[in-house]
Amino acid sequence: MIMSIFFRLTFIFLLSVLGFPSHASDNIIYDVRIGAQGDQTRLVIEGILDQKPDVTLGLNTLIQTKPFIYKGGPVTTKQVHKIKRLTIDGNTGRIALDFTGHAILKQTLLLPSNEHATATRYVYDFSISGVQASQSSVTVKQAVEPEKPIVKQRQPLTIVIDAGHGGKDPGAIAGDGTREKNVTLAMVLHLKKELIHRGYKVALTREKDAFIPLRGRVQIGRKNKADLFISIHADSLPQKSSNTRGASVYTLSNTSSDKETAALAARENRADIIGGIDLSGEEADVANILIDLAMRDTMNQSKKLANSVVLAFNKNNMKMLNPPHRFAGFAVLKAADVPSVLIEIGFLSNEEEARALMTRSYQDRLANTISDAVDDYALRHHPKY
Ligand code: ZN
Repeated sequence: MIMSIFFRLTFIFLLSVLGFPSHASDNIIYDVRIGAQGDQTRLVIEGILDQKPDVTLGLNTLIQTKPFIYKGGPVTTKQVHKIKRLTIDGNTGRIALDFTGHAILKQTLLLPSNEHATATRYVYDFSISGVQASQSSVTVKQAVEPEKPIVKQRQPLTIVIDAGHGGKDPGAIAGDGTREKNVTLAMVLHLKKELIHRGYKVALTREKDAFIPLRGRVQIGRKNKADLFISIHADSLPQKSSNTRGASVYTLSNTSSDKETAALAARENRADIIGGIDLSGEEADVANILIDLAMRDTMNQSKKLANSVVLAFNKNNMKMLNPPHRFAGFAVLKAADVPSVLIEIGFLSNEEEARALMTRSYQDRLANTISDAVDDYALRHHPKY
């Protein structure tokens, strides 16, 4: 009897090890759909993926994720005239689309799935250039029923990105002489590319090594009707604190979180003193703005954006200070009607981090992380979405 139980347990054990192929990940795709959405081609993937797929655009467009189990049926491309072929391969984690022209990704949406509780609906809208004229208009008329409008047609958000310092204001200086103004500019150019790739409109306060007063930066944000303003800086501490590393995000407050934060704000605000502008007379003015209701709403939105930044850094395993979200009177964040955050991407005073901050790969990771934060904020909080 005991033996038989033993054998039975062994059998169950073997079955669980050998009988069912165990997948490296639990990625599941329940469904893949394609359809015409206006003059765009929409791809919808519904599933549970542990990270957002990578998209490589072209005549052959590739959606790459980790291996997945596909639970949907075959997808016919017959009625969507801009797609020649669609292949789904769970083993390689690939969904490949052969278009009739070069694909441009117009927008990506991440939405909760209606059908599957913990799944996400990944929506990609492509516009296809140089479509061959061989397709008859009949085919177009037969286009599959377009995906029900999930969200109201969104306008792209305008993100104004601000590279800290510039020109006669070098900002912090690393042990090897690297200047903050150059690190922030390189970073901002990467970030701009990534945000445009994700369908946002982007304007920069500076695209070269130029001095721009802090108020001028705020004005550039307003002139571009920015939906969000993101200022990028890199921090530095005296030699004795050279172990400190990690990013942090700041929103405006008339009182600083702590002494270090107050000192940081004073350092970052020094640009206007370098530029010969005396801000001291404007403090009363700022105090008035701070109690304004519009400003209060903007500050709430700024805090939500900062939360999205913290979430995205955590999700992407990027180190942040503790606490990661801090408050201070940064002059560059004082637009009364534009949600604004300042991100210190790391410490130039930490040798290792300073080196990383200057590499393309780390800047790419940061650009992705900050773009994830913008996506997260836009989808959850922005009224345009
Ligand atoms: Zn700075």
